[in-house]
Amino acid sequence: MKFSSKTLSLVITLSLLLSCCAEEVQPTIYNDEAISNEDQTSDWLAYGRTHNERRFSPVDDINVNNVADLKVDWFMDLPNDVGLVSTPLVVNGVLYFTGTMNIIRAVNAVTGKLIWEFDPEVGKHIGNKRQIGWAHNRGISFYEGKLFTATWDGRLIAIDAKTGSELWTVVTFDPKRSLYITGAPKVFKGKVLIGNGGTENGPTRGFVTAYDAETGAEIWKFYIVPGNPAAGFENEAMEMAAKTWTGEWWKHGGGGNAWHGFTYDADLDVLYIGTGNGSPWNRKIRSPEGGDNLFLCSIVALNPHTGEYLWHYQTTPGESWDYNSNMDIILADLMIDGEEVKVILHAPKNGFFYVINRKTGKLISAEPFVETTWASHIDMKTGKPVEIEGARYENSPFDITPNPWGAHNWHAMSYNPQTGLAYIPTLHQAVNFSDEGIDLENWQAVEFSGGIGVRMSGAESEPRKYPASLQAWDPVKQELAWSVPQDVFWNGGTLTTAGNLVFQGRSDGKLLSYHAKTGEVVWTYDVGLGISAPPITYKIKGKQYLSILVGFGGGYSRGGPSYSLGWAYRKHMNRLITFSLDGNADMPALPPPFFPKPLVDSNFMIDDALALEGAKEYGKCRNCHGGGMYGGSMAPDLRASLIPLVKETFAAVVRDGARNQMGMPSFPDINDDQLEALRHFIRKGAKQTLPQYEHMIKNMATKEKSKTGTLGH
Ligand code: CA
Repeated sequence: MKFSSKTLSLVITLSLLLSCCAEEVQPTIYNDEAISNEDQTSDWLAYGRTHNERRFSPVDDINVNNVADLKVDWFMDLPNDVGLVSTPLVVNGVLYFTGTMNIIRAVNAVTGKLIWEFDPEVGKHIGNKRQIGWAHNRGISFYEGKLFTATWDGRLIAIDAKTGSELWTVVTFDPKRSLYITGAPKVFKGKVLIGNGGTENGPTRGFVTAYDAETGAEIWKFYIVPGNPAAGFENEAMEMAAKTWTGEWWKHGGGGNAWHGFTYDADLDVLYIGTGNGSPWNRKIRSPEGGDNLFLCSIVALNPHTGEYLWHYQTTPGESWDYNSNMDIILADLMIDGEEVKVILHAPKNGFFYVINRKTGKLISAEPFVETTWASHIDMKTGKPVEIEGARYENSPFDITPNPWGAHNWHAMSYNPQTGLAYIPTLHQAVNFSDEGIDLENWQAVEFSGGIGVRMSGAESEPRKYPASLQAWDPVKQELAWSVPQDVFWNGGTLTTAGNLVFQGRSDGKLLSYHAKTGEVVWTYDVGLGISAPPITYKIKGKQYLSILVGFGGGYSRGGPSYSLGWAYRKHMNRLITFSLDGNADMPALPPPFFPKPLVDSNFMIDDALALEGAKEYGKCRNCHGGGMYGGSMAPDLRASLIPLVKETFAAVVRDGARNQMGMPSFPDINDDQLEALRHFIRKGAKQTLPQYEHMIKNMATKEKSKTGTLGH
């Protein structure tokens, strides 16, 4: 059949109209109205999809009945990335995401073809912060043609979304300070807001700053904890907060850093920030005569235009356990006692699920969603937790659950208004806290060395039945709707859709979909590498896609207990993977989990006294190489590394920065004796853990054999 060119173009136009506009809702201008629209189907415009931060999509093309057919549509290999944790955005057919070292890529959301790449050259700016921190970042934001990114080293950068070129840059904190940024900036009403992390790295005082999205000019700043009263308070809120502190708290900074959890309420024109834990953790040091220590571990409501304080709700008064409240702040409208109420849903580290009236800041309800040994319940009269005696390790060590990883960390919680359930990546672990033997009176945090003012060790009450679970929580009834126990810790964030689905990636590399009402597993896909990021979904030209960044990341990826997952440093390709119902991409499989073998050098005579000295030096290394030197995915396993075997090579790398380009910071102040002590500590660690390694490998082989055996019958 032959068409004239005129007929052909008519046919194309008609078919485009039929395929694209029947059900799709796409914004034309990407402003607050678009970001607030829960009904649009084409895009993923903000960290939590919309201003409500629900991570709920109304698109139901992929649903419980056909999700089993989900296949890889396209993928992008990211060979230089390590530990991907971020939420991509999709705007008008383009997928934007931030990777390791804050490199941003714009990709065609249908084909996966790279459009542009923006490298903020973090390596040039990072300086000392490389010693304390984190090459990963959780997200970017989009507003009226601009992308906003906040870099590890503390810059906030606006980028032209079309071309990937830089529009403006501001430095958000003193580069000499031991602060860093891992969070996504929050953009609203022509302003862009960012806070920072680093509470544990020095005497820090948390704050957030709002800038003009157009020019980068600073508009307002809000401090989270009060400074030295002698210097005068910035505002009445700080004066009020200071009454809840004792001693000379400002010498310790106080903490409260807002590194995650910013939500703009477009209905009420209010900004909520989730605030961090104390600096240091131990209140006996920070505020020796007690006190609630406002605004630590709170949700603080601010006037988004001026930064003026409106109200706060503190989840953990006088916190002493790293129970920050930086987790997701989700906005919902719930029917409570026959009335529709505008609420905040919040499940912070401390293990309680909070429903808060967002007009008044009043607590509506709070119930524990995990075992909580630090507090029995929340007193609804005072809105405060009723603590268990001894929980503040007053006179003796105390087993605490949740532990400082939290009952829920930054891995995204989602909320589905159709099922009325919140989906929480939940953690279950205990720890023993003790400050016995610490000189509380003279303790002082030092910039870049930091400290927490308390010691942690394994809890006698471990293990729990399972380390993690995916929990569906009913915020109206304040009870568990369903729970799926997981035998691996530190799993990814969740996405929920009108297709009656919940998606979550796990740290063992499995991406799963669950029936949103029952928790039944309806789809599983093995991506071959641990997942920490949350999936997103979008719809272009009648086709729904599901995208996720793959790469094991975040605090738990730096080794220690995560060693047994086998996601050794740079052994597995990090990827961006996009699925669809008719996908047919041929994605090469990744190698199996890899476990670095500790090297034992029989010629190296280990000096126990030197090794003990080296253990102290190792404090500088553990932020990346992990406690106990078990390597994770963030940095090499030092026990297996060849570099410490040769004195000169070791000095070149540790002191002189020979591997700076690879991400290894230099420690110019370290002397020969300290370097030698470290070498002895590493060799001793390798020797001591070799039998453990051999035992583990043997166990795995036995397990594998029995598996094959079963399959053989
Ligand atoms: Ca913390």
